[in-house]
Amino acid sequence: MAKKLKHCNFCGLPETQVNVLLAGEDGNICDVCAERAYQVVQESMHPTSKKKFALNKEELPRPKEIKAFLDQYVIGQDDAKRYLSVAVYNHYKRLMQKDTKDDVEIEKSNIIMVGSTGTGKTLLAKTIARVLKVPFTIVDATVLTEAGYVGEDIESLLTRLLQVANYDVKAAERGIVFIDEIDKIARKGDNPSITRDVSGEGVQQGLLKLLEGSVVNVPPQGGRKHPDQQMIPVNTKDILFVCGGAFDDIDKRIAQRLNTQVVGYTANSENKRIDRNNLLQYIAPQDLKSFGLIPEIIGRLPILTYLKPLDRIALRNILTEPKNSIIKQYIKMFAMDDVTLRFDEEVLEYIVDKAIEFKLGARGLRSITEDIMMDAMFEIPSTDVKDLRITLEYAKERVEKQDYQRAES
Ligand code: ADP
Repeated sequence: MAKKLKHCNFCGLPETQVNVLLAGEDGNICDVCAERAYQVVQESMHPTSKKKFALNKEELPRPKEIKAFLDQYVIGQDDAKRYLSVAVYNHYKRLMQKDTKDDVEIEKSNIIMVGSTGTGKTLLAKTIARVLKVPFTIVDATVLTEAGYVGEDIESLLTRLLQVANYDVKAAERGIVFIDEIDKIARKGDNPSITRDVSGEGVQQGLLKLLEGSVVNVPPQGGRKHPDQQMIPVNTKDILFVCGGAFDDIDKRIAQRLNTQVVGYTANSENKRIDRNNLLQYIAPQDLKSFGLIPEIIGRLPILTYLKPLDRIALRNILTEPKNSIIKQYIKMFAMDDVTLRFDEEVLEYIVDKAIEFKLGARGLRSITEDIMMDAMFEIPSTDVKDLRITLEYAKERVEKQDYQRAES
């Protein structure tokens, strides 16, 4: 009688048709099944990006829900929040359209957000990241230079996305990348440069490739590519790009454009009253062009939105209203030492005044509060104090002391 061939007890294949057959006490497993089994075990122990990033229409937060979430952390900036929420929701729809059988293809709508520094662009991006169902990363455009120069290659923008997706290329290819400080790669001036522009137009051309959708070779560890490094090909067709930038002084260009327009349309100028305190709301693609972005890039960023400069009321709200507001953070820190911390309302007004005086916007709120609280944070944990009330007099004294020390040094 012929000897019975050993076989895999999972898939049934005989040992002659598998690479490796591992023998157990009462049965065997082939290499393919062992590998599958390993994946199943891994999946159940650490749900991988595949599961984490799976889209299920019923579970997707609607634009209103996304905005409501942003409202908990970011004060004001309603326009930017609405645009961002819709863009993210539409991105999901676009990813799910593969299941529908018609000829209507939803196109990608990358976004560009313009707003001075410290108005909440990065905060918006970081906050939205918490509700996203796809891999997300924030990268900085300032490190980019044209290939062959000191700095990072454009493709390295996608390295972080791959890392976030645990190198699951399929998941990364559906992700969202927030490119901060996009204005730093604008070419200087409106005219195409004749000389080489290391960090300007060349970089924009490179970025264009990513925005348009193409397969790019990404260095797995980022930085500069080198010849013997193995690259990971990533298709950017379905990656959503959100760009942010301060575009310093762009309001002057907007004003200039509006003025020329007003001259041309004097007949109905009364319904064109311009709010000069917030010119960014009138931003149009041609302003980005005159700032130095190439038209092809602007064309690939069809959604243009803006962030308002933060006024007194907004700054005051930022101190206490967001879920993890600066003041709430200090209260929590002291509570961990069983100290109840309270701020007089006048102190909060004073912090806002100082932030405006120093022209630091929301960024200043933290450093001023830090100046006020420094001594207390040092002293209090070693005392029996259980209640700490910060008065205007105390706050002023601390800030003036710090100002004085800075002036001295
Ligand atoms: P940028 O627009 O330069 O990216 P950020 O988002 O980094 O500004 O803002 C800096 C800090 O200022 C944030 O960490 C946050 O504490 C605060 N901040 C700015 N804008 C807002 C806002 N609209 N709501 C709440 N906090 C804000």
